[in-house]
Amino acid sequence: MMTSKNYAFSPIATIATPFKQKFAIPRQPGLAKAKGTISFLPGFDDINMLEGIDGFSHLWLLFIFHQTQARGWKSKVKAPRLGGNASTGVLATRSTHRPNSVGMSVVLNKGIVKHGDSYALTVEGVDLVDGTPIIDIKPYLPYADAISGATDKLSSYHPIPQRTVQFDSVLSATLEELEKQHGDFKSLATSVLSQDPRPAYKQQCDNDPKTYKVALYNVDLSFIVLGGCVRVTQINPL
Ligand code: SAH
Repeated sequence: MMTSKNYAFSPIATIATPFKQKFAIPRQPGLAKAKGTISFLPGFDDINMLEGIDGFSHLWLLFIFHQTQARGWKSKVKAPRLGGNASTGVLATRSTHRPNSVGMSVVLNKGIVKHGDSYALTVEGVDLVDGTPIIDIKPYLPYADAISGATDKLSSYHPIPQRTVQFDSVLSATLEELEKQHGDFKSLATSVLSQDPRPAYKQQCDNDPKTYKVALYNVDLSFIVLGGCVRVTQINPL
């Protein structure tokens, strides 16, 4: 007889990231050096839980795809890496629409920081939307988690795009200001946009006058793709 039981999990923390919406977030962690600050929720804000964590260069974050959870899931999905048309089994993808909305990302451990009486864990290379609930954190173990010779057929068929990114010259003062505020604004925007965040079916299109918007930190960047380059044309407050 089949038995089934429900297991309930509560988030232990939330993460603050520069990505204010899902659009344009890199498909996996590490593809852009986006910073994240993990703040622990009441009941889990015990510094003892983190003792020894500085011994690990990288961490696994397990989290809830809270922004897509309500949309449910299907057994086959159109993965962006299949070009947006062909579909494949959900368990053969990292799709956000899965039977349980759990995501996992490897991130660089940047250490514990004090915030008054409380503390936070800082990380880099996140692919999570701002405010994502974290259900667990585990050390990345190179001896077990790094498997040399592991294969992924798709990455040779559909490499991640690497486009040149240009900012219109009228934006230079704004860019300088944002760089002062955030420290990594231009490099983050460049790496996010170089991966061509447009929908998969548009990614082969080198001249696309449609304006797209990406929210990073506290601003919206407007861009078009012309002559194969991503051109940022406007930066406006969110
Ligand atoms: N590394 C993770 C996530 C891969 S999917 C894993 O393999 O499980 C990456 C996409 O998740 C991003 O492009 C972003 O659009 C989406 N995403 C990030 N945080 C999310 C959230 N809280 N809710 C829903 N989708 C999210």
